[in-house]
Amino acid sequence: MHTYHTPLDLVRDRSPERPVALARPDAVATAARWFQDKFKGDVFYAVKANPSPWVIETLAANGVNSFDVASVPEIELVSQFAPGARMAFMHPVKSRRAISQAYFDHGVRTFSFDTHDELAKILDATGGAKDLNLMVRLAVQAEGAAYSLSGKFGVDAHDAPALLLAARRATQELMGVSFHVGSQCMRPTAFQAAMSQASRALVRAGVFADVVDVGGGFPSIYPGMVPPDMADYLDSIDRGFAEMMVHETTELWCEPGRALVAEASSILTKVELKKGDALYLNDGSYGSLFDAAHTKWPFPVKLFRGADGQACEVEGPLKPFRFYGPTCDSLDHMPGPFWLPEDVREGDYVEIGMLGAYGVAMNTRFNGFGDAETVEVSDAPMASMFGLAGRTIRLPREQQEEDRKVVRLSRPKGRAGKSRRRR
Ligand SMILES: *Cc1c(COP(=O)(O)O)cnc(C)c1O
Repeated sequence: MHTYHTPLDLVRDRSPERPVALARPDAVATAARWFQDKFKGDVFYAVKANPSPWVIETLAANGVNSFDVASVPEIELVSQFAPGARMAFMHPVKSRRAISQAYFDHGVRTFSFDTHDELAKILDATGGAKDLNLMVRLAVQAEGAAYSLSGKFGVDAHDAPALLLAARRATQELMGVSFHVGSQCMRPTAFQAAMSQASRALVRAGVFADVVDVGGGFPSIYPGMVPPDMADYLDSIDRGFAEMMVHETTELWCEPGRALVAEASSILTKVELKKGDALYLNDGSYGSLFDAAHTKWPFPVKLFRGADGQACEVEGPLKPFRFYGPTCDSLDHMPGPFWLPEDVREGDYVEIGMLGAYGVAMNTRFNGFGDAETVEVSDAPMASMFGLAGRTIRLPREQQEEDRKVVRLSRPKGRAGKSRRRR
């Protein structure tokens, strides 16, 4: 990977024609060390958030040597870039062939499921293996997540006890519970609440769990979505764990995706045309901007201009813009608002920040676009949960108004902390 100190150095050096993904391995390293240090258990990285080889390598080099995978290609990727790493196959619905390959070819021992049928499938496809770690995925009432992840997977409270009992009987090794409170969870107490739901299911089943896997959902910072301190999330998990019926040796696991990588990538795009308040860029919803288009997240931006070796970052009075991507699909639209200097013009470069999670990972080649190269940079991300940059994104007052609207959208009904119990 070519290395530049800053995106501006890249613009100055060679005014790139195609979009460029900017990789910040230091940001991954810092987040990885933070979780390794502070989380009182095992940290599995959820590969789907960003499967770039440099991400896998940086995590492994910084102590995160366990990976949550959901497909055979993800397993092969981890085997290649973090040889010897431990993997957990946490997709609750898998093909028989994927289960066999994971077990026999890659040494995967941990599998999750949310039905009796899937449990039977796992036992069958591993030849009745006796050394499986079996993780029951529970549906939990998630409060405060920007993205719900319990609509599709998870056994409900009514059916959970029988499935927990079946799992307990099916293995001599670890039996655990897992859940996902939803991605970009804005409320630390959601973890404690989910753990108390898990605890109730275990008590009703009359079994102890060997593993409590609190999943992902740890947030990053986006305009309008500045979460509480990451330490508050771990405190909530500590409280939840202390209240659970578990034994001395019960392990705590987590599966962060977003939090480990969100800060670590941005994309440098070129303005191909300005039409009123619309900027036509060379990257869009089929490239790295899926969330900007489909969930209308207003990612933070910076503007660079590369005129005749006089490259500079452009500042000045800001105006709200929206973006169109390069494809001919009218869905390729990112409403923003993105606050940029009002004199932004064709040929300028817009850096769109905080795209390390579910951004660069979503790239397609639709319509002949999306072929971005990756270069490494070492400047700070636009915002940081881990002290690499400020915890807010500087915005004009009008944007702060918009921010409040976004927060309202992403905030569920119900009072914060109502599930908190004191012992
Ligand atoms: C996507 C996913 C994660 C990661 O979620 P984040 O919100 O990115 O932390 C963790 N576990 C499972 C099972 C997932 O599907």
